[in-house]
Amino acid sequence: MYELIDGKQLAASMRVEIAENVKKFAQKNGRQIGLAVVLVGDNPASQVYVNNKIKACEQVGIKSFAYYLPADTQQDKLEDLLKELAESSAVDGILVQLPLPGHLDSERALKLIPTEKDVDGFSAENIGKLAMNSESLVACTPNGVMQMLASKNIETRGKKAVVVGRSNIVGRPMALLLINADATVTVCHSRTKDLKKECLEADILVAAIGKAKFITADMVKKGAVVIDVGINRDENGKLCGDVDFENVKDKCSYITPVPGGVGPMTITMLMYNTYLAAVRRG
Ligand code: NAP
Repeated sequence: MYELIDGKQLAASMRVEIAENVKKFAQKNGRQIGLAVVLVGDNPASQVYVNNKIKACEQVGIKSFAYYLPADTQQDKLEDLLKELAESSAVDGILVQLPLPGHLDSERALKLIPTEKDVDGFSAENIGKLAMNSESLVACTPNGVMQMLASKNIETRGKKAVVVGRSNIVGRPMALLLINADATVTVCHSRTKDLKKECLEADILVAAIGKAKFITADMVKKGAVVIDVGINRDENGKLCGDVDFENVKDKCSYITPVPGGVGPMTITMLMYNTYLAAVRRG
């Protein structure tokens, strides 16, 4: 019999804890923690993400500074804003909602976010620190997955973990976190020769592919822990993950649902990173 790892519930309890810590921080330091969120253009999905982040800030008592810039914003204007936010003592974390409009150079812009304010954990410095297993701000989605494993006391030490996907925001940092947690890690991607064989070896299988119901029951070892990072629409337009949940679940010891699994953890970890950035800054 499988057990669900309920990300919605875990995220809610973590937000209560973060809110308490944010309040204590304000009492001790005489100031509110601040997160700056920058959105360029009017991509509807990005607007939804930004609104959810601002709502989460309100929920945990973090002051949000939202900057909505027009789609035709020039590089120098964006960079001026980021430089200002980098200097601002009221701002502990800076987040630029991606993707930026095509005419902007994201890499150049993101470099202006100081490592200690990079609450998305996307910078080369933070990824490098993670690779060296030293103190960093860790990308929110994979960090949320680690919290989900910990919430069920799932052992990672000595376990065989397989991560399908190698993106900079999910697969790669996920693999680094699992290595740091003493798992033996295999990373698979679109050029992997025998994906099914690799997946069948996994005690912990993390799917971060972006293809609806791609991981099928014949790819999962009996008793495996299956973490589904994917957010897709199925043939009926219904939200689903990268894992064929209905057919895979009975083979698992633990599995995350979609929706209500990894998704709610991501913004919660953003709140956590902003709190952490503030504590480290003092
Ligand atoms: P991405 O940048 O498109 O990366 C997808 C990865 O999957 C790539 O490494 C790709 O391999 C690999 N892949 C694609 N087709 C494959 C195949 N047939 N066999 C094996 N590997 C294959 O996507 P992402 O940004 O990492 O996101 C992955 C999924 O997670 C998406 O559904 C996204 O919506 C979701 N997501 C969810 C959250 C959340 O909060 N829950 C956050 C971020 C992303 P190559 O490198 O070889 O191309």
